[in-house]
Amino acid sequence: MKDKGKLFVISGPSGAGKSTVVFKATEGRDDVCFSTSVTTRKPRPGEVDGKEYFFVDLEQFDEMVKNNELLEHATYVANSYGTPRAYVEKQIDAGIDVILDIEVQGARQINEKKPDAVKIFIIPPSLQDLERRLRGRGTDTERAIEARLIRARQEYAEADFYDYIIINDDAESAAKELAAIMVAERCKYSHRAHYLKEV
Ligand code: ADP
Ligand code: 5GP
Repeated sequence: MKDKGKLFVISGPSGAGKSTVVFKATEGRDDVCFSTSVTTRKPRPGEVDGKEYFFVDLEQFDEMVKNNELLEHATYVANSYGTPRAYVEKQIDAGIDVILDIEVQGARQINEKKPDAVKIFIIPPSLQDLERRLRGRGTDTERAIEARLIRARQEYAEADFYDYIIINDDAESAAKELAAIMVAERCKYSHRAHYLKEV
């Protein structure tokens, strides 16, 4: 029997480097995929519908919630975000690992619904670094940056249910840590115990 895919939940403050680290850790691999979320946030310059996010309006978002099409959903800094359920379940059944880049409230919902999901919290070396990175990225207004810094402090206080913490100082090293966690989780007894039953 083929292994099922595993669900990896990656959280951490906006600007911690989650996209950067996930991209480096998974580049060129076809046994892992990234779940594209839906959001009511407006696209940033350069963001493409269906790539970074599926951009929807609040009415469409509420309709998806009502139809139970989202595995989890949450509000983050005045916008709604959610994970489309069908894609995630299809990939897991096909033996492909799925990465969700979601904030803490959504991660908590996944933790309750799918307790074997692996929860990883990525942080910058300090909140000063975070502020520098958000400014350096140049995609958020001053108000949005301040709101994201406040939210980062709240998220740190709520992050007690994660399995791993990665400190993204050097992005290459952080990506190596993420790749190592993914390999180790695939080798876990609980994930492979079914092989022992086939002897
Ligand atoms: P997130 O996905 O967590 O919001 P990004 O991956 O968009 O964060 O990274 C935020 C900014 O910080 C980007 O400009 C990115 O190039 C930069 N960055 C990411 N990792 C590092 C790092 N280890 N050192 C310095 N800058 C980084
Ligand atoms: P951004 O607006 O910077 O792209 O994302 C803001 C926050 O929303 C990030 O912390 C990101 O992880 C989170 N996020 C993105 N997609 C989802 C989702 O589908 N569900 C939840 N709960 N959070 C999400």
